[in-house]
Amino acid sequence: MTYTPTPTDPNATPVRINLLSDTQTRPTAAMRDAMARAEVGDEQIGDDPTVNALCARVAELLGKEAAVFMPSGTMCNVAATLVHCRRGDEILAHPTAHLISREGGAHAALGGFQVTAVPGADGQFTPEALRGALHPRSRYEPPQTLVSVEQTANIGGGTVWKKTALDAVTTIAREHGMATHMDGARLLNACVATGISAREMSDGWDSVWLDFTKGLGAPLGAAMAGSRDFIDEVWRWKQRLGGAMRQAGISAAGCLYSLDHHVERLADDHANARALAGGLSQIPGIVVQQPETNLVFFDPAGAGVTGAAMVAALRARGVLLATMDGRIRACTHLDVTQEMIEETLGLVREIVRTA
Ligand SMILES: *Cc1c(COP(=O)(O)O)cnc(C)c1O
Repeated sequence: MTYTPTPTDPNATPVRINLLSDTQTRPTAAMRDAMARAEVGDEQIGDDPTVNALCARVAELLGKEAAVFMPSGTMCNVAATLVHCRRGDEILAHPTAHLISREGGAHAALGGFQVTAVPGADGQFTPEALRGALHPRSRYEPPQTLVSVEQTANIGGGTVWKKTALDAVTTIAREHGMATHMDGARLLNACVATGISAREMSDGWDSVWLDFTKGLGAPLGAAMAGSRDFIDEVWRWKQRLGGAMRQAGISAAGCLYSLDHHVERLADDHANARALAGGLSQIPGIVVQQPETNLVFFDPAGAGVTGAAMVAALRARGVLLATMDGRIRACTHLDVTQEMIEETLGLVREIVRTA
């Protein structure tokens, strides 16, 4: 069963503990204040000073020549493949990749690309698996022009690609004449978890983007970085797709605020995720993937409660989460406290006990 977004039922029990996603965070009072005070201009013609400051900041952070502010992470992935690839090209990505399963088929619909899934454990593929998916350049086979990874790998369990594994991918890609794209929706979670800088993680990747609406807690926006030529081409697609904005500095101010105030605290989310996983794994029958960042995937079936039943029982007690690709995903973030984790564990124990 996959997670299907549904609007909140107004008659349902109020949600007290929201573990559904780090996209559920509400902007803090201080973030709203920074947004309200933002200097703004016309983003579409390059006149919004706050957006320009954010782009300069992200380019520097990721060690690239330029960056562009985008309405969403999905539009970053879509614009990136539209720039890197041509009709009929083949993109290589893990089967659980967001660009395969959660972008409405955009890469086929808009670009005419085919995406080939390169499997592997925990949302990642090995260098051998990547080599195994390559084929010679010939008239018969689609040109393989792009390889994409997620850092962190969302449905893989929020796992972190090791720097050595990332380097192996970029090396193989270069040998094969492919461009490289990093979906960094949660890149800064990977950086905080490992102590490796965003610049180092992005080194060797042609395009990299960050989402401000995940753990960083901003209400809107993502930013993609790459060479100046790449970003110029992304701008053309941003215009074509209707993603060019106006006084977007209001949003960019929230993103800048999140870079200043919400990066180091991602470590708290990781600690809460570990506490949740630790508590769940002590309940006999519950199978838990040990988290590396802020996502905890678990399956309660062995404890006599299906994932769907557990989600429903928790929801009735005011805890919101969902199943995703067969397991339950719990996500820790800005609006989740240690006390909420303890309370959730108590409720899961109660549900298992009374099942
Ligand atoms: C959330 C997410 C996206 C899409 O970002 P939006 O801002 O929601 O469009 C892409 N890739 C991954 C791995 C994500 O988690």
